[in-house]
Amino acid sequence: ITNGVAEIMVVLARSEEGTTDARGLSLFLVERDETVRIRRIEDKIGIHTSPTCEIEFDNTPAQLIGKRRFGLIRYAMGLMNGARLAVAAQALGIAEAAYREAHRYARERVQFGKPIRDIPAVSRMLLAMRGEIEAARALVYETSRWVDLAKAYDHYLSTDEGKKDKAAKKRQKQAQALADALTPLTKYYATEMGNRVCYLSMQVHGGVGYMREFNVERHYRDIRVTNIYEGTSQLQIVAAIGKLLGGTINELLDEWAAEEYGPELAPLKASLLEATEQFKQSALQLKEKETEVIDYYASDLTDMAVYVVNSWLLLRHARVSERKRDMARLYLTEYLPKVHAAARAIAAASMTPLDVRQSILAEPF
Ligand SMILES: Cc1cc2nc3c(=O)[nH]c(=O)nc-3n(C[C@H](O)[C@H](O)[C@H](O)COP(=O)(O)OP(=O)(O)OC[C@H]3O[C@@H](n4cnc5c(N)ncnc54)[C@H](O)[C@@H]3O)c2cc1C
Repeated sequence: ITNGVAEIMVVLARSEEGTTDARGLSLFLVERDETVRIRRIEDKIGIHTSPTCEIEFDNTPAQLIGKRRFGLIRYAMGLMNGARLAVAAQALGIAEAAYREAHRYARERVQFGKPIRDIPAVSRMLLAMRGEIEAARALVYETSRWVDLAKAYDHYLSTDEGKKDKAAKKRQKQAQALADALTPLTKYYATEMGNRVCYLSMQVHGGVGYMREFNVERHYRDIRVTNIYEGTSQLQIVAAIGKLLGGTINELLDEWAAEEYGPELAPLKASLLEATEQFKQSALQLKEKETEVIDYYASDLTDMAVYVVNSWLLLRHARVSERKRDMARLYLTEYLPKVHAAARAIAAASMTPLDVRQSILAEPF
């Protein structure tokens, strides 16, 4: 438990005897006293400034927060969605720090008579990092915007004026649905992106990157937890897939597609429209499959969604400056082919991997 040494804790505990599901959990406020024991502070590979504790409660008095049974489904879920966006932002920060280290090193390190950043294979790593970081930043901001809008509408709807406003009610529902769909996508993408960026940053450093005297090894260790805590990437996909299959983000994609991008961006827009259509088709195809096949290939559809959303965000930014235009050109050139590859995987989706798993996974080797 993060910061388990705190004086006051919010604890999710099973309050309903005999239950095993989420509805048997309630939320409690606990003040630390002699009945609370910190059994140990975990020995982690990273984020050493954050004490992660194993806590033992022994008949500890606790105060119920809100209603019984609502602990996880109502209160903790809301808390967790906020935390998921925060972890996405944390991953973005670590990724940027790792990129800055790689950028500096690639400029200073000379091999074969030139700075290594001028070698195509190295510039490719740097471009991959930069493109993914900018895409993740755009996604974090867009998701935060919908979260803020949903909350603002919620507040307005509780006022006398808002109670009569039917249009605002509809907008609140739309904003909430998008916030709920985009939050797991953002946590998934930003934290996986951060891991890829830190991996590449170490690679750009070559042998010295593996040594503790360079900062990149710390970023490499710190980033690793971001796609594990506050729900693993696999759980983010579980949270997102139903919404993607249900077309929750399609209206937003259509709104972006209807915007004006000008003649210079027309070829990029045309490629993106094609990829967007492919994403929608793949969702319809996957929806028709068996549940286990959907679960198995859910990551392909989630990747398609993220690449398409990011591409629209960067294309919209491309109208602002030449540098942003180049960034959109880079990102769409690199990632739209991945949308098509994932579409092919979904079109060919079958029970085969699931059918053979028993025989292949029966023994370690
Ligand atoms: C540093 C640190 C700090 C933490 N702080 C807190 C805290 O403050 N409070 C708190 O409550 N928790 C905290 N945690 C716990 C953390 O949230 C969980 O470890 C994390 O959510 C994963 O759950 P788990 O460890 O039970 O893994 P498991 O659920 O056992 O998962 C193991 C593997 O199975 C996969 N998996 C499991 N279920 C599914 C599924 N249905 N579909 C697809 N894949 C699945 C997972 O993706 C993972 O790959 C912390 C963990 C760490 C490492």
